[in-house]
Amino acid sequence: MLLTGVLLVTSVNSFLKVSGQTARVGIFTDCQYCNCETEGARNYTLSLSKLDKCIQVFNSLPLDAVFHLGDMIDHDYRSYDSILPRFQKFLPPLHLVLGNHDYVIKSKYKPGLLEHVGIKEDHYVVDLGAWRFIILNGDDLSFFAPQDKKHKQERNDVVYDQFEHLHINGLPWNGGIGRDQMGWLEKQLDASERARLNVVIVCHFPLFTKPNHNLFNNKEVFNLIARYACVKAYFNGHYHSGDYQLREGIHMVNFKGMVDTENNAFSVVTLTSDSILIKGYGREPNRNLKIRQRAER
Ligand SMILES: [Zn+2]
Repeated sequence: MLLTGVLLVTSVNSFLKVSGQTARVGIFTDCQYCNCETEGARNYTLSLSKLDKCIQVFNSLPLDAVFHLGDMIDHDYRSYDSILPRFQKFLPPLHLVLGNHDYVIKSKYKPGLLEHVGIKEDHYVVDLGAWRFIILNGDDLSFFAPQDKKHKQERNDVVYDQFEHLHINGLPWNGGIGRDQMGWLEKQLDASERARLNVVIVCHFPLFTKPNHNLFNNKEVFNLIARYACVKAYFNGHYHSGDYQLREGIHMVNFKGMVDTENNAFSVVTLTSDSILIKGYGREPNRNLKIRQRAER
């Protein structure tokens, strides 16, 4: 019995090992579960069976990690009781990205949310061989997540600035990156460039998918990341219909929301030394994206 246990642990570990230049990850977003009626395209209750299928597929593959790009629930703290036990079932390490809906819960639950869902840091780095994932917290400036005085002021300033320029992304269901996190991001990018790693930026909110869904300070973030040749892609959710754009050599992939329609949506993404290969399941399309090499930037 003991031997079986040891063998199992050994085989699982080698199963998940990153091999040099290549990394393979599972991506899904906007699971957005709640026990409520279907509303438009959002089929909230079906998210549980879709998630079960996604777990089954991801666990059958040699993945280095799994990422959920935000909006685990639609609203109601009790919705986490259905989601979190399922999240425990992923065999590869699961990394969570914060979305706006994750904070659509009673105020008394908000300060303890990260601990409840098992997020140690709201922005962080995941290294998989030659690839570095830089995870941003788009709820840093927010109308839903808790804000101290400094962040409230920054949020109001950036939203006011957007309206002044007749941009409509300063809407309550979006979010932004505060000054301190911008400084942290710049340091991560400097270090990644020096280490000659390939970088994927991950955030719940898109930069340019749809004006009324974009990050509050989308242009500021883009202007920073576009300065670095190491940045190969930007992955996000939030806009459920999905999108793809290529901007200054950066592949901007907006993954489709799992909650929409009766059909599932999730992806297996293989990152090699020259490509990002997306195998889409359900509504998510396949993509074969060549990454720009250093000399081309
Ligand atoms: Zn969202």
